[in-house]
Amino acid sequence: MKIAVLTSGGDSAGMNAVVRAVVKVAILKGCEAWVVREGYEGLVRGNTEASSEQFIDDEPVNLPDNASTDGSSFNLIHNLRFGDGDLLKDGTGDHPGTRSLKGRYIVRVGFDDVRGWFAEGGTFIGTARSKTFRTPEGRLQAAYNMVKEGIDALVVCGGDGSLTGADVFRAEWPKLIESLQSEGRITMEKAQLHAHLRIVGLVGSIDNDMSMTDLTIGAPTALHRICEAIDNINSTASSHSRAFVLEVMGRHCGWLALLAGVSGGADFIFIPERPPTAESWEDQMCECIHRHREVGKRKTIVIVAEGAIDRNLNPIKADHVKDVLTERLGLDTRVTTLGHTQRGGRPCAYDRILPTLQGMEAVETLLEATPTSPSYMIGIRENKITRVPLMEAVEMTRAVSAAIEAKDFEKAMSYRDPEFKE
Ligand code: ADP
Repeated sequence: MKIAVLTSGGDSAGMNAVVRAVVKVAILKGCEAWVVREGYEGLVRGNTEASSEQFIDDEPVNLPDNASTDGSSFNLIHNLRFGDGDLLKDGTGDHPGTRSLKGRYIVRVGFDDVRGWFAEGGTFIGTARSKTFRTPEGRLQAAYNMVKEGIDALVVCGGDGSLTGADVFRAEWPKLIESLQSEGRITMEKAQLHAHLRIVGLVGSIDNDMSMTDLTIGAPTALHRICEAIDNINSTASSHSRAFVLEVMGRHCGWLALLAGVSGGADFIFIPERPPTAESWEDQMCECIHRHREVGKRKTIVIVAEGAIDRNLNPIKADHVKDVLTERLGLDTRVTTLGHTQRGGRPCAYDRILPTLQGMEAVETLLEATPTSPSYMIGIRENKITRVPLMEAVEMTRAVSAAIEAKDFEKAMSYRDPEFKE
């Protein structure tokens, strides 16, 4: 089997670890491992003929049986990190291939190509948002490019949008193959060989916003970054007896804000799933913070999730919170927006472990897939790696957002966590 892995949508720490795990396990299981650069956009662009000619040897550079471990061997990481068009020469003489990534989006990789990737932030193979893949023509081209390289299985790591794209692609696959054959772009033999697409999803998202899994890849690292930021702010806040309002990411999900608040000792937290209970959140917040100040607290930390709303579903913005604290309580208040620092940096230990375990499970899932089995998303529930039907998880995630919009917060929570009780 030829297994390709891609990262798509918003980046998150741990995506490199996913690629590493999938590549290594695929090779150990006797499969060919491929990476698709720049998400679905790379699938659509594929490999130009000229770039294939440049590719002297289509074999992966290092396989376990010939891998040198002294670190001096050619490593794809250099090309991925330091530019597309670089023609890097292997310095050891062991692998006399010259590999350029120019015009190549679907690349076969070897065991050593992904060495050490688990400790690196972001995604070396790139991620993108692809408009073309949303169109049937784009997906037809993507199918053609995959068949051309002989790839029959795909691991997609991304958020709910990317996983929806994966589901659409798989559902449409037989039709796409039929079209390619009737247009004479692929032979009947190839069409029969690629009659079905095996696909599996891993959730890479800093927001932890996917239903049917306890944790998404990248969320623990983002939480860690926020926690560090709060620690840094705490010392200056208490020195000057100031208040800080921190705006944190999370889109429609308050997980990052809530857990950052718990781990950083925040005074008040605004999240989308549980708006303040009082009609006036201003009164509620001020009363709470006043109480904390009365018992001697010298600092105030308020966390506002990106998607925070009040009871009437109006957004709650950090600047407005700051004005309220300044005007009503007379606090010297500053706003800190953490922005993209939350996304980046080295993955914490859990964002290496989770992608490794889930990457292994993803390959197993592909190997066991049948034409009639559903596409699976790999999750984690109560510390056990799980397989859940991909579309069920995506639909439930959408239902959460819809329930929040309809002010049905209990329903929203029950979708996110079926065992939730008020
Ligand atoms: P995320 O995966 O982080 O939620 P997006 O929602 O932007 O990010 O989705 C990433 C990519 O997935 C899109 O740019 C698009 O190429 C693909 N995609 C998303 N939804 C669909 C869809 N309904 N059909 C086909 N492709 C889709």
